[in-house]
Amino acid sequence: MTVVKNICVYCGSSNGRLDAYGEAGNALAQALVKHKMGLVYGGASIGVMGKVADGVLALGGEVIGVIPKALAHKEVAHHHLTQLHVTESMHERKMLMAELSDGFIALPGGIGTFEELFEIWTWAQLGFHHKPIGLLNISGYYDHLIQFLDHVLAEQFVKQETRDLLMVESDPDVLLDRFINYQAPPIKTWLNKAEV
Ligand code: AMP
Repeated sequence: MTVVKNICVYCGSSNGRLDAYGEAGNALAQALVKHKMGLVYGGASIGVMGKVADGVLALGGEVIGVIPKALAHKEVAHHHLTQLHVTESMHERKMLMAELSDGFIALPGGIGTFEELFEIWTWAQLGFHHKPIGLLNISGYYDHLIQFLDHVLAEQFVKQETRDLLMVESDPDVLLDRFINYQAPPIKTWLNKAEV
């Protein structure tokens, strides 16, 4: 069993069209608190991001926000978090979120969410970290992306072992249980030298 203390959640700064997206934020918050895991996220009070943070706080859990100063106003920084880090840049934000976290989950979101998910996944592909990564597919929101990833696999632009690094679930409790039982596979870089 792996000790998973803090989970980084990537998700929309918008609410999206369906109530189900915000409800999924609440469900993930409940699952995190039940598993005694803290939340690390982008520090905003709006959208699905705000829903996850408010859900964890309402249940007495810990929430660490990380927001770049240029967005602190635009994304309406959440001022009732356990901790709020304000960084100089977006790159520092993402690096700190990664360092503070033992695993990563994406909920429905927009291009910011995709960028964050794909970045942390590519870092895992390169063996820069060995932490679990999950996609919560709510109301089929990510069905087309999952199909496209199958296409990318079939066209041999991604290896099966890399595809397998992304765990896809629709139930947050199931995903967090998979995180606890996660054993990172040995990753061979494309240089085929280092097993890191
Ligand atoms: P979105 O999914 O587009 O609503 O954005 C979700 C989060 O991703 C927000 O906190 C954004 O600040 C963040 N974000 C937006 N664009 C980027 C980017 N290029 N790199 C990293 N994070 C981003």
